[in-house]
Amino acid sequence: MHKDNNNSLKQILVDNQISAKKRFGQNFLHDKNIIRQIVRASKPENKNIIEVGPGPGLLTKILLESGTKSIFAIEKDESFLPILNNLKKESLTKFDFLIADILKVDLDSLIEGNYSVVSNLPYNISVPFIISLVEQEQPVKWESLTLTVQKEVADRMLADINSKQYGRLSVLIQWRSFIEKICDIKPTCFIPEPKVMSTVIRIRPKNYIKKPSIESFQKVVSAAFGFRRKTLKRSLGQLGIDGESLAIKAGINPKLRAQNLTVDNFCDLAKIYENLKIL
Ligand code: SAM
Repeated sequence: MHKDNNNSLKQILVDNQISAKKRFGQNFLHDKNIIRQIVRASKPENKNIIEVGPGPGLLTKILLESGTKSIFAIEKDESFLPILNNLKKESLTKFDFLIADILKVDLDSLIEGNYSVVSNLPYNISVPFIISLVEQEQPVKWESLTLTVQKEVADRMLADINSKQYGRLSVLIQWRSFIEKICDIKPTCFIPEPKVMSTVIRIRPKNYIKKPSIESFQKVVSAAFGFRRKTLKRSLGQLGIDGESLAIKAGINPKLRAQNLTVDNFCDLAKIYENLKIL
């Protein structure tokens, strides 16, 4: 089973004379059981799907057979053009694509109505890509993001308060969305094998996001975690204000450190900071 899967991806790569390029973060998934698990987790039925980086198209093919309404793929490497053109010609499900850098594309403009994103993301763009969607003002047009990312990045997004991984990324993601872990993926499921473990995560937006503004939240969180070994009294002082009184006004002990604060604590701090009108 494992060998067959491997062969079918290998065959696509050989037939199209493709070898993985490091600069595009190309580690192709060959394990169809894992690919099916990703597709199931994305709940694709009757949805408009945007796939980032279809590459050789194994995940795309299984998505196209899963009852989706449509798929729009964005791929930066134009050597996949023949494969994508073939998929467009042969697919019974509505399929279109764009050769472009996902970080320069406005996803909302590609699709009328709501959409879900599915991607085995290249490691080097996963964090900026996720942040750009999570930071959008409500109501957002994306319904869910089902993504394969480096395990270390997933662990930071999922991290609990008081843990070593709990940081800026954890509080931003957990403030604005619901995040769940689907499964880990071993390096042997990819060609070529990456040096690290991967994790599939699913993110859904929160309909109601607690104030404050994203700018003040980010400023407070960056100051607090920028000096994570220091107490809030010291770290919040980096904002050019009296860190101790900011913490006290928010009802938080100024002797605590960033990793001891809940997402709600950060919201309270940022709201008070915002009201000081020094942004
Ligand atoms: N979907 C395939 C799979 O699961 O095997 C390929 C995944 S591979 C990890 C990442 C894919 O994203 C590659 O096809 C790569 O060329 C593409 N890619 C890299 N950077 C990109 C960018 N900035 N915008 C769009 N696609 C990108």
